[in-house]
Amino acid sequence: MRITSSAFGILLLLVFLSSAQAGYDFFYFVLQWPGSNCDTSSGCCYPSYGKPPSNFGIHGLWPNYNNSSYPANCDPNNPFNISQIQDLVTSLRTNWPSLACPSIDSTSYWQHEWNKHGTCSESVMNQHAYFQVNLNLKSRIKLLQYLQSAGITPNNEFYSLTNIKTAIKAGVGHTPWIQCNKNAAGTYQLYQVYICIDHSGTVLIDCPVYPTRGGCSTSSIQFPSFVGQHGKTSPLETTFNEKGSIEK
Ligand code: 5GP
Ligand code: 5GP
Repeated sequence: MRITSSAFGILLLLVFLSSAQAGYDFFYFVLQWPGSNCDTSSGCCYPSYGKPPSNFGIHGLWPNYNNSSYPANCDPNNPFNISQIQDLVTSLRTNWPSLACPSIDSTSYWQHEWNKHGTCSESVMNQHAYFQVNLNLKSRIKLLQYLQSAGITPNNEFYSLTNIKTAIKAGVGHTPWIQCNKNAAGTYQLYQVYICIDHSGTVLIDCPVYPTRGGCSTSSIQFPSFVGQHGKTSPLETTFNEKGSIEK
């Protein structure tokens, strides 16, 4: 019994030390629904390489503390360097597309996420590993599939927040945090999904804490379609407003 409890104590100490060394406690892995990004009053831009797939895209992997606070912009001496992730660019374009204007080729989005969040986990993973870990998590966590298995599809219908969380929990194994935004008509819709990951970036965990900002202030939320939204894909940098007309 004494051996068991001291072994447990050592294990706890090791876990504590490794996360203390990391400089943060865990990550939020955040995915965004493109349909909810584009149907807002400010609209969206597609990347110059084409309309993103009708699937969740990566927003980022954000180091966080168990007390809800988080580090940011941790190392100005290690700025984003695209040459370190050349082999990942094709996959990043599909899985981590930028929809904010001007989207261009999405690289300024990746740059922002690395500089703000990625530098805070650089003691655990370098730039290449950070982007690779994001892509690995994206391919493991099949959000759209989990939702569709529960009959929750991006068809402009309304779904209960509880059913959305339950469907994602059934696939991920842990309860997610859901963030809503409003479309141009002011309707609350499914915008971002937060999944908690341990500090190594590999183990999905129960969230030690959920974001303290408001989640969805309504229990029934819309899941908007992205297929056919705003008409055709433009090869040019183009802004689409909510009526589908083009603003250059
Ligand atoms: P917003 O307030 O628009 O949801 O978040 C703005 C930005 O602040 C996010 O994109 C992210 O960079 C950062 N942020 C907001 N909340 C959190 C949080 O709980 N943890 C971490 N690590 N970053 C956050
Ligand atoms: P955060 O909220 O993570 O601190 O900042 C996100 C930054 O990335 C903002 O400056 C935003 O304009 C830019 N950005 C570029 N593309 C996207 C996108 O598709 N979604 C979001 N949320 N932000 C994007």
